[in-house]
Amino acid sequence: MRILVVEDEKKVAGFIKKGLEEETYAVDVAYDGEEGLHMARENQYDLIILDLMLPRIEGLEVLRQIREGTIDTPVILLTAKDSVEDKVRGLNKGADDYMTKPFAFSELLARVRVLLRRGKADTKTVLQIDDLTLDLVSHKVNRNGEEIELTGKEYSLLEYFMRNKGKVLTRTMIAEHVWDYNFDTFTNVIDVYINHLRKKIDKNYPKKLLHTMRGVGYVMKD
Ligand code: CA
Repeated sequence: MRILVVEDEKKVAGFIKKGLEEETYAVDVAYDGEEGLHMARENQYDLIILDLMLPRIEGLEVLRQIREGTIDTPVILLTAKDSVEDKVRGLNKGADDYMTKPFAFSELLARVRVLLRRGKADTKTVLQIDDLTLDLVSHKVNRNGEEIELTGKEYSLLEYFMRNKGKVLTRTMIAEHVWDYNFDTFTNVIDVYINHLRKKIDKNYPKKLLHTMRGVGYVMKD
């Protein structure tokens, strides 16, 4: 899952980015409204965390322009103001949630998880395909009752596949949702990671869940 953080306070932005990356999300940061708007339009984000008081273009205007286009990515507003009107204006302009600064990272994370689940038929915190399970809260992955150790990137790759069960995912889609802005699309990094993942989740089991669609991409299904 890939998240855009639009926040001009470098310290706050860094704190959110670091925390989310520890939770295996891919995170890009924009330090003003104009850059944030540009990045939201150029990339496929699963969630946007948007500060209200921003240089160049203020947060509510960024939100208005995002929603005016075809981007329906969930948005969490960050606001230093705790006035009711600001929150109401934000929600009326299409924000999905808001947090008043200062906030506890654990609360932001809980809200991020809720919004990333939104619209999915599966509202449980455990994803399952056949005998493979992935716990979105504890980050534990099990197959046939055995725990599988994954690196952060392998975990986010698996999470993306399991959220899109049965759907063919191209390398571009995978790059856009699992890697951040610094990803170099001209490498075979995705294939390398998929091989690592396959060794861990499929190799020792008779039934294979992760399939290559030659020339197209990959699909996970039972
Ligand atoms: Ca600010």
